[in-house]
Amino acid sequence: MAEVLVLVEATRDFTVKKVTLELLTLARQIGSPAAVVFGASGAAAAMSEKLGEYGAEKIYTGEGDEIDGHLVSPKATALASLVTRVQPAAVLLPSTQEGKEIAGRLAVKLDNGLLTDVVELTADGVATQPAFAGQVIVKSKVSRGIPLATVRPNSIAPTPAAATPQVEALEVSLGAADTLAKVVDRVVEQKGSRPELTEASVVVSGGRGVGSGDNFKLVEELADLLGGAVGASRAAVDSGFYPHQFQVGQTGKTVSPQLYIALGISGAIQHRAGMQTSKTIVAVNKDAEAPIFELADYGVVGDLFKVVPQAAEEIRKR
Ligand code: FAD
Repeated sequence: MAEVLVLVEATRDFTVKKVTLELLTLARQIGSPAAVVFGASGAAAAMSEKLGEYGAEKIYTGEGDEIDGHLVSPKATALASLVTRVQPAAVLLPSTQEGKEIAGRLAVKLDNGLLTDVVELTADGVATQPAFAGQVIVKSKVSRGIPLATVRPNSIAPTPAAATPQVEALEVSLGAADTLAKVVDRVVEQKGSRPELTEASVVVSGGRGVGSGDNFKLVEELADLLGGAVGASRAAVDSGFYPHQFQVGQTGKTVSPQLYIALGISGAIQHRAGMQTSKTIVAVNKDAEAPIFELADYGVVGDLFKVVPQAAEEIRKR
């Protein structure tokens, strides 16, 4: 069976991100999954067990400062030469900031078509892609090359399938242009006890209705009681209530948790685009006509400043 290359995304301390497990699950439906690890020395060794648990038959690894000490260019170059050498059935990358950047460069280097923001991909290369904030579903196929796709996080349920991966170190030959942009420092954006927004199984989001940055403490409190992440609508972000990295929606992050709680969010299509695949949606809004109620599994028409403290009180009792 031909290999399907999966670009691994992980944290700096080598925790494999959920999106990678989703990509490996999808890869198994197309061919033989082969994980591609780029990172600091020791990355593949630290992650091989987890990657094997989700079916990686092979791990290709490019490690060390040559790859890790620069921006995406060396990774795109190394991946392009690997694709040329192994002729995989498909290449899957996460539809994340770095994944998208590498995918675009890879498509140009290989002169290959690119399928972006895919939520499904069949073995014969037909991709399903939401367009216009999820209002239209498009089926497409590349007309040149192999399926090279960025896959939207949280669109595939990750399922384990044990394999014992063979590890192969890549010999990477980089051009001068690959190493022009060098990493000089790394700053952890936010370190806290909350799970990462796109990985969390519970997300509590606040909108303009929350009213101020200070009031977001209420959103945070409910999220913490449920062990969840905090999200925000664009209106809340644009009003300066919460940082942009927490924005959910078309121009923010896409989440698909087990439980999504929308507080003071009207439910504009651009917001829905980032959360409508959540398994259970709960909305609190004082306007009974708010469009979020068309989508919600459970809705409370009421003032969030009364409803949320009551809900928090109930949760604390249990
Ligand atoms: P509003 O629409 O103002 O809704 C606030 C809600 O709070 C109202 O329904 C109100 O009834 C309710 N409310 C007020 N007070 C209370 C209270 N005390 N208790 C309970 N409810 C209360 N938006 C995103 O979210 N994410 C995106 O990524 C995004 N991308 C966009 C991209 C483009 C190109 C464009 C044009 C727009 C984008 N938007 C995005 C903006 C989007 O169209 C909406 O403007 C935005 O989602 C509205 O945010 P909101 O629901 O918080 O605010």
